[in-house]
Amino acid sequence: MRIDIMTLFPDMCNSVLSESIIGRARAAGKVEINSIDIRDYTEDKHRRVDDKPYGGGMGMVMQAEPIWQCFNSLCEKIGKTPHLIYMTPQGKTLTQQRVKELAKMDNIAILCGHYEGIDERVIEALEPEEISVGDYVLTGGELPALILADSVSRMLDGVLSGEECFTEESHFNSLLEYPQYTHPSDWRGREVPEVLLSGHHENVDKWRREQSLKRTAERRPDMLEKADLTDKDKMYLSSLDSTTI
Ligand code: SAM
Repeated sequence: MRIDIMTLFPDMCNSVLSESIIGRARAAGKVEINSIDIRDYTEDKHRRVDDKPYGGGMGMVMQAEPIWQCFNSLCEKIGKTPHLIYMTPQGKTLTQQRVKELAKMDNIAILCGHYEGIDERVIEALEPEEISVGDYVLTGGELPALILADSVSRMLDGVLSGEECFTEESHFNSLLEYPQYTHPSDWRGREVPEVLLSGHHENVDKWRREQSLKRTAERRPDMLEKADLTDKDKMYLSSLDSTTI
């Protein structure tokens, strides 16, 4: 998969994308992620890409033309039109389900706004999918773009050590993950649940499944409606004392 991030702050993206799991996956060629500087597509001699909003008001608005040129040049370069996503607090909130779907695409381009946002006409012309990372406002689309690039990349073949790394995780199957523990088995008087030290895989799996159900019931009961629950799961959930959840 190839992901291109169109931004006014490519260094901000590059520094994050060079680290840790995603940095290694890029180096190993499991995913290609590029940051493209929208400023390279302005004709302004001072490399300006923003201007005051028509109608007055606070801040600056990113101009349409550099974004239009940037996207078209990318399409020309790769010989196809990538699925374009504009990160905006006005978009649909990102979910694991959408991440799974996006991970099946070959080419994604992500547009980051900044300042007061982007001239609406280029949004109308390019018709991007609009995605939000939550109901709050950030200074720019770079952090949201990195969230999207990271969440999509980790689902690609070979980026994590195995599929179980994400299939058992929170949200993959509309459940939250069970609690995790590591050495030492006794930390300041707090012991690891005994079943995890037993070496009995069936019991460990049962305990984890129940913890996962319990956590979801306690913290995100709304998620249980979409979860794929067995009869055993349902029995376990109904056995939970209403005072414990
Ligand atoms: N004036 C815009 C509004 O009220 O809808 C907000 C602009 S925001 C300060 C600047 C840029 O940050 C946006 O164009 C968008 O790219 C990005 N951004 C801010 N919050 C975001 C969020 N929750 N999800 C995705 N992108 C966000």
